[in-house]
Amino acid sequence: MKHANVAFFVPMVGCPHRCSFCDQNSITGESGIPTPEEVDKTLKKAARELHGFSEKAEIAFFGGSFTMIPRELMLSLLAPAKKWVDRKAFSGIRISTRPDAIDEEVLAVLKEYGVTSIELGAQSCSDEVLEKNRRGHSFADTQRAAELIKSAGFSLGLQMMTGMPGSTKELDVLTAARFAALKPETMRIYPALVLRNTLMAKWYEDGEFVPQSIEEAAETCAELLNIFELYGIKVIRLGLHAEESLEENLLAGPYHPAFREICEGLRFRKKIAPMLTRLPKGSYILRVAPSEVSKCSGQHRSNVEHWLSLGYAVKVTPDKNLAPGDFEVMMANMPSP
Ligand code: SF4
Repeated sequence: MKHANVAFFVPMVGCPHRCSFCDQNSITGESGIPTPEEVDKTLKKAARELHGFSEKAEIAFFGGSFTMIPRELMLSLLAPAKKWVDRKAFSGIRISTRPDAIDEEVLAVLKEYGVTSIELGAQSCSDEVLEKNRRGHSFADTQRAAELIKSAGFSLGLQMMTGMPGSTKELDVLTAARFAALKPETMRIYPALVLRNTLMAKWYEDGEFVPQSIEEAAETCAELLNIFELYGIKVIRLGLHAEESLEENLLAGPYHPAFREICEGLRFRKKIAPMLTRLPKGSYILRVAPSEVSKCSGQHRSNVEHWLSLGYAVKVTPDKNLAPGDFEVMMANMPSP
């Protein structure tokens, strides 16, 4: 078992206003807030099932702005979670909130209730983009909150959105670099999608906003993956989860259930291009770590097809002596070493 989150969604509760892109109910497929009894019951069942794997399991409260919900409600949800963490059934509690909903007082409360990781919906480093999309906070708020979270000893996660109205590829890349400088442990990257009943949907319908294509979003996100890898920051999510309610409410935008695979394939294609295209056209064997054969071949073998269109017939083969990220190219008719 790699990692298991037992996640509770607290949609749209606590948000002081509505961001241009947000329709939490269709993103999460949930519309109600869990009761403390439901949290307790779910955790009890999960604790039984995860017995022996507690260090790999976290309790998560995602959705709205968790630290902005009425304090009594927040504590009533955290109390059963803390109980199961104290019993060592889970390694910790993860919450997500807004940068302007963090201060020393709330951090002290979260610590007391066993919260270990805090994710901030930070979205962009551009104040113009944040303002246009009705985020209601600035990049300075993100910097200040990140600093407070880290110095209070929590694990920090940041979420960013690419291709938002008012943004550009250059601004998205700058955002990634500025977010990486805040040294989060984890990142989530979501390309902007146009959902029904949002302000962004209105802009889209009025012709004021054209969302990115899947190819454009993948170009940007492949570059962001390189930046975060360079800084040793784990990207734990790229693109929204496939949910029936999301697909039903999606009007436009770069959504694909295998979006990360597309981005990873593109990264590999770009990495190999300088070496491959210097060689004479012909047939080649490309050796990669066994775990990277599918990534290297591209989604539905798109990289293999791409290379073929350039005159290179490439056969991707696993080599257990190679580390992930490494590769070797040799002519197909050469004897193996
Ligand atoms: S703060 Fe988050 S949950 Fe609230 S409206 Fe904005 S995106 Fe939605």
